[in-house]
Amino acid sequence: MGDYHGLTRREYALALLRSCYGYDSFRGQQWDIIDHTLDGGDSIVLMPTGGGKSICYQIPGLMSDNGFVIVISPLLALMNDQIDALQQNGVPARALNSEKSESENRQTMELLMQGKVKLLYISPEKLLSEIDRWSNAITDRICLFAVDEAHCISQWGHDFRPEYTQLSALKQRYPDVPVMALTATADRITRDDIATQLHIPEGRLFISSFDRPNISLNVVQGSTGRQKFRQIVQFINLHNDESGIIYCLRRKDTEKMAADLTRLGIKAEAFHAAMSASEKQRVQRDFINDDLKVVCATIAFGMGIDKSNVRYVIHSNMPRNIESYYQEIGRAGRDGLPADAVLFYNYGDMVTLQYFARQSGQVQINMDKLRSMQQFAESGVCRRRILLSYFNERFDHDCHNCDVCDNPPERFDGTKLAQMALSAIKRTDEQAGLYTVTDILRGMRKADIVEKGYDRLKTFGVGHDLSNAEWNAYLLQMLQMGLFEVAYDENNHLKITEFGNDVLFGKQTIELNRFKRRAFKSEKAAPVIAEEKQTAKVMDKALFEKLRDVRKALAQANHIAPYMVFSDKSLTAMATEKPTTQAAFGIIYGVGELKCQKYWRPFTAAIRDHLGIK
Ligand code: ADP
Ligand code: ZN
Repeated sequence: MGDYHGLTRREYALALLRSCYGYDSFRGQQWDIIDHTLDGGDSIVLMPTGGGKSICYQIPGLMSDNGFVIVISPLLALMNDQIDALQQNGVPARALNSEKSESENRQTMELLMQGKVKLLYISPEKLLSEIDRWSNAITDRICLFAVDEAHCISQWGHDFRPEYTQLSALKQRYPDVPVMALTATADRITRDDIATQLHIPEGRLFISSFDRPNISLNVVQGSTGRQKFRQIVQFINLHNDESGIIYCLRRKDTEKMAADLTRLGIKAEAFHAAMSASEKQRVQRDFINDDLKVVCATIAFGMGIDKSNVRYVIHSNMPRNIESYYQEIGRAGRDGLPADAVLFYNYGDMVTLQYFARQSGQVQINMDKLRSMQQFAESGVCRRRILLSYFNERFDHDCHNCDVCDNPPERFDGTKLAQMALSAIKRTDEQAGLYTVTDILRGMRKADIVEKGYDRLKTFGVGHDLSNAEWNAYLLQMLQMGLFEVAYDENNHLKITEFGNDVLFGKQTIELNRFKRRAFKSEKAAPVIAEEKQTAKVMDKALFEKLRDVRKALAQANHIAPYMVFSDKSLTAMATEKPTTQAAFGIIYGVGELKCQKYWRPFTAAIRDHLGIK
């Protein structure tokens, strides 16, 4: 890598960025990372999902005359999507994996030999079995190993994959080839472990801001069952034509959620690990093609899918840790336009998650991670501050795009409520779980309550003026404060702590956050318009819809996903700038050379038609 056709290194990189991707400038540290790599340096790149990691390793490949980049990525099926998208931009990328036929893989090797592949995507297990068979003529041309989802190599991470550990051999065997480890997981232990495992102790650390300011963060406390479902439907209805993901904890929840939504006429499907590969592919495809509005999924869904116009991510159950939560909400709003994250948080989920953590091999780590997640959900200060401080990032102002900033919790003296609850717990001889205690407080004459004589307790019904969700939320706060504990080895019965006794007997007082009835903003302008309002030129919504139809038709004709034709952000730019010539079209955000040639006619024709220009 030395001659850049008469241009400086940076000029050449920018020219490629423009001609292949249609972007005018590097984002954040992209250029520094590329520059460092071209100097032969190893690196560890921490960037949030949607931050723009791929360009960091793709550009060095494109800049090389006859070299190529090996991209190691964990999920085979999803590599194909990335490759399709690259090929749309005219970037010579191929995948080598067991899902491809013999002859396809042979063809890939031939192209590689001829220097016609710049990016070779491969799974870790495949790489180590393949690379031994390659001649020096090929291995000498490897210009970079890019290890995507690099946290998978660490046992300290949240997604350990044993097959990744084999990658530790790379640096030893190819000491001159730079290694770039990329991940959206930032905690220090994982990060240090990545460097150790990959044998790149000198690797330079590039940490980008983890902030995704366009994602609005919301937490809904206490809702369960039908009430939670009603709130979800309400939320989806606010987002009428937009795509979203609903994450659930268990397979059966994804299926039930999808079936219940479908009954209400909302196009939804489940996605989970027990489905066949072909079923999973179909759901993904339909979602990417905008034929499916909502996917109800367990954690696996979304990894590697570059669908940039996911407008919301709902967590119907609380995730196990902040890493997963952040990665999952990061799938919303990758186009940079406003998007929403909504997390439902209740006591039942806490019990289940604690159970999982106790069953796991790493009880201490997992319990700590769960506790941080809970602190986020209970937070009385800006939620973005909590998130970013978790990722060791300084963020010293309120974000004004989370539910706490929008509507700060009101603190009140909760001593009386706590005494009611603690007294109820005491009177059951600490032999009841949280739901029974709630029923006692609310005076619910249910069969098991009557059977145990709880309806004759002095505290029966003292808290009848609060709803189920209110008690659930307050009891969670009390649990978090340490007024009582859950005895996991005794049917989850509640046990009063010393601190709890002090409060019960009036020696200490406590404060609580007032429960919020209103779950999320209900009167929201269509997000696409919202951003454009701030700029001088206004986007033409009707034109946007027409361009969307053009995109859909082109996608169908070419058998690719709509986002591979153009992102929503590009369509927004077209509906704002209204280019009517090829030249004007060519400078629109996201329009590279190949796409300009391919698509300028149909899009500018639609714009002319819309403007009444012949
Ligand atoms: P990650 O892999 O970090 O999750 P991607 O590499 O998929 O993120 O990038 C996220 C989105 O941002 C993609 O749509 C990508 O095309 C876009 N993007 C990346 N770099 C730039 C840039 N310099 N200018 C504009 N858009 C960019
Ligand atoms: Zn905030």
